Amino acid sequence: MKLSVLRSTTDGSASLYLSVDDRLVSVDALAAAYGAPELAGLADVGELLRRGDVVHTRLRDLAPRAQDLEAVAGPVSYAPPVVDPAAVVCVGLNYDAHIAEAGRTRPERIVLFAKYASSLTGHNEPVLKPAWTHELDYEGELAVVIGRTASKVSPTFAMDYVAGYTIMNDISARDLQRAEPQWIRAKASDSFAPVGPVFVDIDSAPAIDDLIVRTTVNGELRQNESCRSMITQVPELIAHISQSMTLRPGDIIATGTPAGVALGMAEPVYLRHGDVVSVSIEGIGELVNTVVDA
Ligand code: MG
Repeated sequence: MKLSVLRSTTDGSASLYLSVDDRLVSVDALAAAYGAPELAGLADVGELLRRGDVVHTRLRDLAPRAQDLEAVAGPVSYAPPVVDPAAVVCVGLNYDAHIAEAGRTRPERIVLFAKYASSLTGHNEPVLKPAWTHELDYEGELAVVIGRTASKVSPTFAMDYVAGYTIMNDISARDLQRAEPQWIRAKASDSFAPVGPVFVDIDSAPAIDDLIVRTTVNGELRQNESCRSMITQVPELIAHISQSMTLRPGDIIATGTPAGVALGMAEPVYLRHGDVVSVSIEGIGELVNTVVDA
């Protein structure tokens, strides 16, 4: 099951859609057609997950029938799959080749930082480049969406708490990241976390080891590495994070970026107004955003 969240072109409100063979079918329409009021009125994947396992399973069961329903026609506006997550936890320095290109050594501890709901933006929405940065960079990443409240879980059971996957571009202002000891502004400014456009339910998702993160800038391949190369794998990340903070349904974990960012180039070519960045993971989707001077 694949889900996307679209914004109404009239009032900007978000609602949940099934993504079926490049068609988008309203979950509200599915709920009405098949008498499933528990699925009505869902704004996003976060709200679906907060309604609990029974409702989530009901949507999984009904999803194949979306093929018989009418799809959205005309242009659409994507919101993040989770519009307002309580936590967006990001993992830094989780691939050896990226650590090397950044001129660093493998950290003794897992590096975590945070973004906010206000950092998120949708597929095809602009990434706003503030005038205060001259070193805006991309980081294509696999993002994990938490499905159930997770506190102090063990790695053995950690995957039971994963609802599914999406894609995040961890936009990073390198000059500010160097200048300020906390990465909050460098990493969590408005629009610095494009996410989506598709949420893939864990039930139908490929194994993480089979996922490859590919990033292009204006069509030029920059990143191309398997998620298998993560230093700390997803179960261990969830176990580690949940030792200190309770993860809730809809929370997002960005799992770190592979090599190939601008920072790692001999002569870095940072993002400029008009650049088009695509992050794709086969089996999940393709997230495309254009950089725009703010
Ligand atoms: Mg990152």
